[in-house]
Amino acid sequence: MEIANCPRCGKVFARAFREICQNCYAEIEQEYATCAEYLRENRGSTITELSEATGVTVKQITKFVKEGRISMMDAPNMSYPCESCGLPIREGNICANCRDRLMADFSSATSDLNARNQAANASRTYKIGDRQ
Ligand SMILES: [Zn+2]
Ligand SMILES: [Zn+2]
Repeated sequence: MEIANCPRCGKVFARAFREICQNCYAEIEQEYATCAEYLRENRGSTITELSEATGVTVKQITKFVKEGRISMMDAPNMSYPCESCGLPIREGNICANCRDRLMADFSSATSDLNARNQAANASRTYKIGDRQ
C-alpha cells in the first residue's frame, strides 16, 4: 500500500482508492450532505448564501458543482467563480469575457506567426527571383 500525505489536511495516510485521507473524505461527504439538504429547502440560494449557511467553502461547493453532485438545474441562482477573474458563471471554467480575451490572445499569437511565415516566404521568393 502506498503511503502519501493527504493534500487536504497534510496527514500521512495509506492511499488505496482515494487521493485524500478517510477523515477528509468523511468530512467532504458530510459537507456535501449539508449543502444538498440546505439547497433542498432553499433552491433559490446563491453560492455565497449556501457557503455562509453551511460553513462549506465556496471552493468546495464549486467542486461539488463541477463534479455534477450539485445540479445547477435544481438551483437557479447558483453560480461559481470564473477561474480567471472570479465573475460568477454557470458553465465551463471561465466566463465569456475571459474566453473572448483568451481567444483574442490566441488569434493574435497566430497572426504573429503568419506574419513571420509571410516574411520568410517573401525572402525566399526574392532569392529565387535573384537567381533567375
Ligand atoms: Zn486529510
Ligand atoms: Zn472571467
